[in-house]
Amino acid sequence: MAAFGSVFMPEMALTTFDGNGWSATEIVDADAISLHPGAHVLHYASTCFEGLKAFRHDDGSINIFRMDANIARMIQSSRLLSLPEPSAQQLEEMIISIVKRFAADVPEPPGSMYIRPTHIGTEPAIGKAANPSLTSMLYVLLSPVGDYFSGGIRPLRLLLEQNGSRCAAHMGMIKSGGNYASALQPILTARKAVNADQVLFCPDGDVQETGAANFLLIDGNEIITKALDSTFLHGITRNSILTLARDMGMTVSERNLSVDELLERASKPHSEAALSGTAAVLTPVGTLIEDGKEYQVGSGEQGPTTEKLRAALNAVQWGKTPDTHDWLTRV
Ligand SMILES: *Cc1c(COP(=O)(O)O)cnc(C)c1O
Repeated sequence: MAAFGSVFMPEMALTTFDGNGWSATEIVDADAISLHPGAHVLHYASTCFEGLKAFRHDDGSINIFRMDANIARMIQSSRLLSLPEPSAQQLEEMIISIVKRFAADVPEPPGSMYIRPTHIGTEPAIGKAANPSLTSMLYVLLSPVGDYFSGGIRPLRLLLEQNGSRCAAHMGMIKSGGNYASALQPILTARKAVNADQVLFCPDGDVQETGAANFLLIDGNEIITKALDSTFLHGITRNSILTLARDMGMTVSERNLSVDELLERASKPHSEAALSGTAAVLTPVGTLIEDGKEYQVGSGEQGPTTEKLRAALNAVQWGKTPDTHDWLTRV
């Protein structure tokens, strides 16, 4: 199977904002867009995106997971970047129409159709470093994806970074391109230096998240993860996992977690740690690396609670259990 996100459906849904309003949605070829080389996004990073998935159920229906939450987050990201605000209704229609068009291509579980709404500032104006783009383009790309864990589940190695941040503190909750560019050098350095898979950003000892996933510590019946603030991305998988954990009677503690407390609790034999995000749902963390020392998390292998929570979320997505929180939209 090709690398995650490298295969695209041939068409996408697209609308543009001309300074006054949004154009009627068009279905266009997905292999190219036309942009002026001076487009605002190419110089001043006026861009945000979303990532959500559609799933095929046994009855043949196609169901999109938590579309409303992703649309709300995209509108929020656009607003915080001073991009024109998309219409929730139009974005919903765009997502549904393009998924319907390629319904036959939605893979069977554990595969899915990954949906990538993207919003960019298009005004050709390189003098606008300190002004917003008055025009923009919003499109919805589709990419069929296979089993994230097809190579087996391998617990990750995370390097704890206490000096740097993933991105500027006020940008953390925006799903915006510049934040990933900002995190790239620390990640590449950590891979080379200690063979880490990801960097867990912990500015001044405050455990936040990795480059593209939220972090959860599981200690017995309790899940501990940072409470929402502007410094990190408000993951919809994070929210879904915490909701299912509460349903199961677990204690959910959304609060600050220091590196010291993390290392102390993670080393208990039954502790678990995991990363949450749309691509993989939950990925176990086996090793934390801090100041040249390696700390095994619990057994070092995937723990039973991580496995149980991921299975519970997959069961909703795949239509194997009742959708009690109304998370699915049938297209
Ligand atoms: C997308 C993303 C997440 C996970 O968000 P989900 O809504 O769960 O997919 C977490 N952190 C960052 C930085 C992200 O970009």
